[in-house]
Amino acid sequence: MKFENKRAAGIKSSPSMAIAMAAKKLAAEGHDIIDLSLGEPDFEPPVHVTEAACEAIRRGRVRYGAPAGMESLRQAIVGKFKTENDLDYTVDEVTVANGAKQILFDVFLATLEPGDEVIIPTPCWVSYGDIVSLHGGEPVYINCGPDAGFKLTAEKLDAAITPKTRWLMLNSPSNPTGAIYTADEYRALAGVLERHPQVLVVSDEIYEHILLKDVPFVSFGQACPELRERTLIVNGVSKAYAMTGWRVGYAAGPKALIAALNKMQSQSVSSVSTVAQAAALAAITGDQAFVGKAAETFAKRAKIIVGHLSKIEELDFTPPDGAFYAFIGVERLLGKKTANGEIIADDTAFASHLLHRFGLSSVPGAAFGAPGFIRLSIAASDPELESACARLATMVRSLE
Ligand code: PLP
Repeated sequence: MKFENKRAAGIKSSPSMAIAMAAKKLAAEGHDIIDLSLGEPDFEPPVHVTEAACEAIRRGRVRYGAPAGMESLRQAIVGKFKTENDLDYTVDEVTVANGAKQILFDVFLATLEPGDEVIIPTPCWVSYGDIVSLHGGEPVYINCGPDAGFKLTAEKLDAAITPKTRWLMLNSPSNPTGAIYTADEYRALAGVLERHPQVLVVSDEIYEHILLKDVPFVSFGQACPELRERTLIVNGVSKAYAMTGWRVGYAAGPKALIAALNKMQSQSVSSVSTVAQAAALAAITGDQAFVGKAAETFAKRAKIIVGHLSKIEELDFTPPDGAFYAFIGVERLLGKKTANGEIIADDTAFASHLLHRFGLSSVPGAAFGAPGFIRLSIAASDPELESACARLATMVRSLE
């Protein structure tokens, strides 16, 4: 029996989730596995966050919520945009969903007509293209390699825009590369967009707080205020507050677009769990010391990884400026032979060999639209990262 329609059959399950599951299975079978495939902080959220959730349960705040999110949480999000990004929004211009991921679902569900194009610079987060396809859109990938700092340039954007272009998808700091756009780089893109008034911008800023060097974060909204009426800023509590499983994301944008997203929410999930929203409210309005400390921890870990990886000559590695990943070029090792005589044909074979023979789980670059790379998460303990680098180095040495 065939169950899936064409749209569902045309997309794949999240590759990073699939690899993480394979790593978990191997570990459950007793193999010594270091899993650096999934992108989530490896520590707990602040205590005041979990306390707020418990308090919401104790007080019986467990009824259906408004599709747009609790008024108090939306007020807090308005405050966050003002204090952290110097952006002015009203409560009607922000919405809350089950993670940044669901915001993206709502956006493309609400706005795409069949065949509308969405420009996605690659390397990009594994889910962007499939979310677009699932809603009848055409992902248009633009390869932005290490020479351009893994960032989209005005020239490339200009060349990719067609009358069918509906959205440009931006992500800074980037998953998987850690690249961060400067205000000037954003403004150069805005210069192109001004000539194409039909193109809207989604700026995924979920890694805003994970800054690994002195490179500052700037919101697209702050850099390009003239595009305010066609910009949707996406963010959430998953990465900044180690709240991946709580599933709370949010967005800010023009009122009519936000109203459309709310309509999608009202007919799908109704609202985000009110308990999770109470936790997110505490995260955003509470003591922010956790956020800075987490970023410091990731910066220390990035140093460990950079120190080791830059010593492995066969790898091409650009140290990340933000987020918590190392995106590593393995192109020069492709075509080499393993000790068993198998050829490492591509990055997927590389990642598979690394997992099955050396017990290190990574995500192949192909999943991010960038074959020839692998991604390691640095959201792991120092000893795990040391050991992961040693395993990678051993594998590289073993190839002939
Ligand atoms: N955007 C990017 C670039 C991500 O890496 C992720 C998660 O890995 C998300 C969005 C999804 O975040 P959320 O947990 O808020 O759905």
